[in-house]
Amino acid sequence: MSSYKPTIGLEVHAELKTRTKMFCDSLNDPDEKHPNVNVCPVCMGHPGALPVPNRKAIEHVIKVGFALGGTPNEKSHFDRKNYFYPDLPKAYQISQSGQPLVVGGTLKGVKINHIHLEEDAGKLMHDDAGGGTLVYYNRSSVPLMELVTEPDIHTPEDAVAFMKELQLILRYLGVSDADLERGQMRADANISISPDDTLGTRAEVKNLNSFNSVFQAINYEIKRQTEILDKGEKVQQETRGWDDTKQKSVSQRSKEEAQDYRYFPEPDIPPFETASLGLEAIRDSVPELPAAKRARFTKEYGLDEHAADALAGDIAAANYFEEAVSEFREDIPDGNIATLYNYLSSDLRGLMNLAGTTFADLKVRPEHLASLAVLIDEKKITSRQAKDMLAKMFATGADPEEIMKSENIGIGDSDEVEAVVLAIIAEHHAAVADYKKGKTASLQFLIGQAMARLKGRARPDMLKEIFEKNLG
Ligand SMILES: [Zn+2]
Repeated sequence: MSSYKPTIGLEVHAELKTRTKMFCDSLNDPDEKHPNVNVCPVCMGHPGALPVPNRKAIEHVIKVGFALGGTPNEKSHFDRKNYFYPDLPKAYQISQSGQPLVVGGTLKGVKINHIHLEEDAGKLMHDDAGGGTLVYYNRSSVPLMELVTEPDIHTPEDAVAFMKELQLILRYLGVSDADLERGQMRADANISISPDDTLGTRAEVKNLNSFNSVFQAINYEIKRQTEILDKGEKVQQETRGWDDTKQKSVSQRSKEEAQDYRYFPEPDIPPFETASLGLEAIRDSVPELPAAKRARFTKEYGLDEHAADALAGDIAAANYFEEAVSEFREDIPDGNIATLYNYLSSDLRGLMNLAGTTFADLKVRPEHLASLAVLIDEKKITSRQAKDMLAKMFATGADPEEIMKSENIGIGDSDEVEAVVLAIIAEHHAAVADYKKGKTASLQFLIGQAMARLKGRARPDMLKEIFEKNLG
């Protein structure tokens, strides 16, 4: 097999989070259990019904544009894209062709051609019981963002990494839940290969609805096209579908060109100028983005790359952590923040996963986790005691300082510990004699006895030191 350079471009669709649909006041509610209730003459394409664009959806797309360093087009308008499909009752989709909302931008080194806004179609569902096909129109005309990259990606890994970062950014911006499993984010991939730096003929694989299918479909296409070129044949420009069960792409139709859709400006919606939307306010609403958060967490808190990445990947965890850090720093400005992170990411996470708890319904308040970390950092409790206390905090939401007081937890002061050590030495002549003969296991026995008498209110290293001093 010869080696060719693969080139990949992505078209990523994301359903936007708005109260109502793109051109009417039917609800945009992905949680609605009943089919075909959130519909009206506008999203059903009845004659005479007039679309009114959803301002929030337009603002969302411009916000994504700003986040990715793109530029809102000064003038923008909607177009009709004509085609028939049973889940598209109007027989056209209102989309954007000539003047998309946003042009340019980059993400993870991949240039973005443009971002436009359109309406989603309904959804066809096979009816196993009746043997027919059902149409789900609640999704019809839900606002849909489409981001088109330049052919700037060269491996399936990079394509997936791009999509994951975009998903995270959409969530940070609050414009989409971007859940692939729920169909809220999906991609088409344009793939070509070439023996040199020119672009080969591309095949478009449609409707990839998981990160894994994006990866597998690109991989498969690279292999398929390599075999074709190796045989001296030509790759056909076409649209292909991805069969997740068979793990292969299948030809659907020869690739249509833009002119086949007979795009023309939507006559029912006037063109508009984006300046009228208050661009500054939209730009100002862009929060700190994942890349900046990762960098700040590494620099400000001394977290390693893995920890910073894990936190930035979960906004709720990141916010919780930052609240805890600010409380922690109030008590000990130069304390070890890694301790706090470790209790959050391993012990607390473990309890949360076991109980299926989210940060929204977590009883442990950030300031209480901070207090626990302070107690550990100041060596007032042992790590064993910390684990037990955290379990209690998790169950009841109690303050660790209160638990310490009410249950007499903690580390005894040195006088108390030393008194116990001396008593144990006095009571265990044989073990003391063995130790003095060089049997180190006897020291472990004595430490165990002292620990039991102190009911855990001491650290093993502290006991070892006091025993050695008194036995030496
Ligand atoms: Zn409607």
